[in-house]
Amino acid sequence: MSQSLYDVVIIGGGPAGLTAGLYTSRAQLRTLLVERMIMGGQVMTTTKVENYPGFPGGIDGPDLMVRFQEHCQEFGLEIEYGEVESLSDRGREKVLTVDGKEVRARTVIITTGAEPRKLGVPGETELTGRGVSYCATCDGAFFREVPVAIAGGGDTAAEEALFLTRFASKVYVIHRRNELRATKILQERLFAHDKIEILWNTTVVRAEGNASGLQAVELKDTVSGEKRCLDLQGLFVAIGVTPKAHFIAEVLDLDEDGYILTDAECRTSMPGVFAAGDVRKKILKQIATAVGDGAVAAIMAEKYLEGL
Ligand code: NAP
Repeated sequence: MSQSLYDVVIIGGGPAGLTAGLYTSRAQLRTLLVERMIMGGQVMTTTKVENYPGFPGGIDGPDLMVRFQEHCQEFGLEIEYGEVESLSDRGREKVLTVDGKEVRARTVIITTGAEPRKLGVPGETELTGRGVSYCATCDGAFFREVPVAIAGGGDTAAEEALFLTRFASKVYVIHRRNELRATKILQERLFAHDKIEILWNTTVVRAEGNASGLQAVELKDTVSGEKRCLDLQGLFVAIGVTPKAHFIAEVLDLDEDGYILTDAECRTSMPGVFAAGDVRKKILKQIATAVGDGAVAAIMAEKYLEGL
């Protein structure tokens, strides 16, 4: 990380950030991409990506993201690991604090994505890592030949439930309504699988366990209000995501759920600062739309630099 002035600093190394980095480094803008932990973002926890064009038969999420990164590095994208703590506007220059050090940039593209939402029930935090998990791809293999459950009814829950059938003896899908939100093709795969049972109109109200891990979950029927216990060693939570935009909440306009507000060209409320991918308020959150956003934000950053 250099003390000199970058043309573009990209925060976050998922599909949106890497696409923005590909465009800006190919345009020979001096670009730094700062990633907090692992390159690739949420796709790293996806076993098989079937709806990103160009890969008939699907591709493993991590394999796809390795290709994204290699492609950017062909054009000399500089990548550093660190946590961006703040962003301030000094007119023609933006200043970021990364692990306590100042980094200066003419433009900034925020692509920090989103993280799993928590159920917020008693026992959840205490048992996280000891039976409660937010990533079936990461932790599924620990639950061989035992029953597990997944809370949620969207695409993530459906994909993760199908993945868990490789290991678990039974997979319960706990959904608060009587209809899934997941796309039809995934719903059909769930309904057809003999290891999967859907618990309709049901929510988790408590996770129970001891020092050795999760033992059961307490469930509530959302129609009758009745409660019951289900013995389980693994509870996977897939109830949607929440944007990672806390660090700029004071300086950029966000919506009521914390997503960064932008115009159609990915401009935020701070001139010279753009947002792309899942951290931005938009209708469809997919790899394909993150890639589209990353390209738009990069081109808009380039235009902004031309105007300076
Ligand atoms: P999502 O689509 O927002 O679904 C969240 C699910 O969790 C919904 O079924 C919701 O129930 C339920 N839920 C939310 N809060 C809850 C709570 N407090 N208690 C119990 N249940 C709760 O989230 P997602 O599945 O993570 O997907 C996020 C985005 O990524 C979506 O746009 C999705 O299409 C996309 N995605 C796409 C793919 C793919 O294309 N292959 C894969 C994964 C994700 P309700 O239905 O009642 O609201």
